[in-house]
Amino acid sequence: MARYRGAVCRQCRREGLKLFLKGDRCYSDKCSFARRSFPPGQHGQARVRKVSDYAIQLREKQKVRRIYGMLEGQFEKCFDHAERRKGVTGENLLVGLESRLDNTVYRLGFASSRTQARQILRHNHVMVNGKRVNIPSYAVSIGDEIVIREKSRKCECITDSLEAVVRRGVPSWLELDQANFKGTVKAQPVRDEITMPIQEQLIVELYSK
Ligand code: SF4
Repeated sequence: MARYRGAVCRQCRREGLKLFLKGDRCYSDKCSFARRSFPPGQHGQARVRKVSDYAIQLREKQKVRRIYGMLEGQFEKCFDHAERRKGVTGENLLVGLESRLDNTVYRLGFASSRTQARQILRHNHVMVNGKRVNIPSYAVSIGDEIVIREKSRKCECITDSLEAVVRRGVPSWLELDQANFKGTVKAQPVRDEITMPIQEQLIVELYSK
């Protein structure tokens, strides 16, 4: 599975926002963005120049793509799906991204970041409706039960993440049964519960060019 292999914190500095890509570290004073909140690179601290509409739209798309840890091609496919569905494309896009299994595992608190959620999935620690599923892009539906496999429940990264989920909270479209390492999808993801500052309309404008 192709993935981004560069410096992770660099992405937050580039987008000028904490994207919370590194789990607990993001809440500590080790956060790179807290210490150096200017763009990376030789000209990172240079005078701010006028930015075009295109640059603003591009940055918005890059920001969302990085939050969900996706490569360009995967993100474009998600956008195509969103465009083909009924309703508002921007909202469809975000709902589609939230419905991904890797995001759901992260939102339930079984992982401290989406990257870790993807690793947990790829290592076959997760069952969906009683079957092993290791595809991060799997789209969850209402009624799906996401369970950590019995033999994986002692895994430190999972137990530690579950303890830390209190800080983030579980969104209302999911239900967590912490004692049984089980999560249920109660409803479709809700746009209003995505608290990161995202202007999805800018992404739609970018891809409409
Ligand atoms: Fe971003 Fe987290 Fe790195 Fe801070 S620690 S810069 S929030 S990935």
